[in-house]
Amino acid sequence: MCENLLFVTDSRKVVPGSVFVALKGTRTDGHLYVQEALNKGALYVVVQEDVDLPKDKVLKVGDTVEFLLSKAKEKLQRYKPFVIGITGSNGKTTTKEVIYTLIGEGRAFRNQGNLNTEIGLPISILNEYKGENFVVFEMAMNKVGDIARLCEVAKPKLSILLNVGSAHRGVAGSDEAIIEGKLQIIQFMDENGTAVVHHDQRLLQRISNRSLITFGNRQGDYQLLDYNYEELTTKAEYKTPKGVLSFNFQSIWNVGQLTNLAAAIATIDLLDMTLNRELLETFPSVAGRFRVFKHKERYTIDDCYNASLESFKVAIETLKRLGKRSFAVVGSIKEQGQYSVETHKQLGKVLEELDGVIVYNIDHEIDPMECSKELFRSDDPIKIRDFLRKILEPEDAVLFKASRSVEMERVLKVFLEDDL
Ligand code: ADP
Repeated sequence: MCENLLFVTDSRKVVPGSVFVALKGTRTDGHLYVQEALNKGALYVVVQEDVDLPKDKVLKVGDTVEFLLSKAKEKLQRYKPFVIGITGSNGKTTTKEVIYTLIGEGRAFRNQGNLNTEIGLPISILNEYKGENFVVFEMAMNKVGDIARLCEVAKPKLSILLNVGSAHRGVAGSDEAIIEGKLQIIQFMDENGTAVVHHDQRLLQRISNRSLITFGNRQGDYQLLDYNYEELTTKAEYKTPKGVLSFNFQSIWNVGQLTNLAAAIATIDLLDMTLNRELLETFPSVAGRFRVFKHKERYTIDDCYNASLESFKVAIETLKRLGKRSFAVVGSIKEQGQYSVETHKQLGKVLEELDGVIVYNIDHEIDPMECSKELFRSDDPIKIRDFLRKILEPEDAVLFKASRSVEMERVLKVFLEDDL
């Protein structure tokens, strides 16, 4: 198979010369779009069911997802890069971007955006990987077995397991299933691989016969010792086996992110590379992932990309450390299934620490949340903007946070357009 082919699974994205892979999704079936793909110039289509097309335009396989996974595996086996795999409930993307940057563009490859699933990861490898010596893969899990499948393709030599919390527990089934599923990144890594694991007893007690390095907040081999904020910068100190390191980060990192940076530092040590302190200190915060900036002297925190109970906790802890009057515009935590009511009740308790809470209830999963600090509830971004305009003072801090599908960025956008 030619290395330069572009594999596409969405017929709307087919361009002349690409290969259309028909996937059977939950919402639609790619086999319905094979003719459209050819009309748009696809070289051929990959299918797992019979289709009424000329034979030379069809490659029939047993399972189209397996096809993608095995082609991606073949490609990696050809280049034999050093693979770093990252999973965990919170902070995968940011940690991946930091490690990728520290290893250096040109030397390293990483899967972009949300190409972190059994479909996204192989697509990323097939379409974008150019043979770089190091690859950093973020691996996502919905159900037990997902990570094992991704490791089957990418066989990490270094597996990083960040915190394991309650994100997506409705889909995974239980907290126990989340732990089991994520531990697969260690179970299925290269047999001589090394694991970098968050210092959490629930995880550590289940890992044996593996080369293991731990990291954490005041615990583990690589520790976040202390941190504080000065204006829009973060001073942080880490204890490492090589001694204490102090940093002056040029943006605000929350305590969860700072803890994960200990894993990034450990990774660079394990690779026997020199830590480029300047790159780390100037690494810009990622939009939507607790990005703190000033809007008319107010600290505005764009944490719209996603939410779980744990990421809410670190956000609130960090807000308190900033030492300002703190408000939050919050929306639902999704994918909690049978735990949804309990999760939102707990969220109410976490938010008690704030000076005021505004609820964006575009959907009703957040309805069970009760918090004595709640000031206003609305599904209208303009009403929320008008309310904030009435209560906020110039030096306040305001956080915008909810799960992805709530699209909290719409509320943030309206708030930022306000020029009063
Ligand atoms: P992921 O790719 O795992 O979703 P992101 O880097 O996109 O991770 O960050 C998602 C959210 O997780 C952000 O709100 C971020 O502040 C939060 N976060 C990062 N690290 C931690 C941590 N160790 N504990 C809790 N929340 C964290």
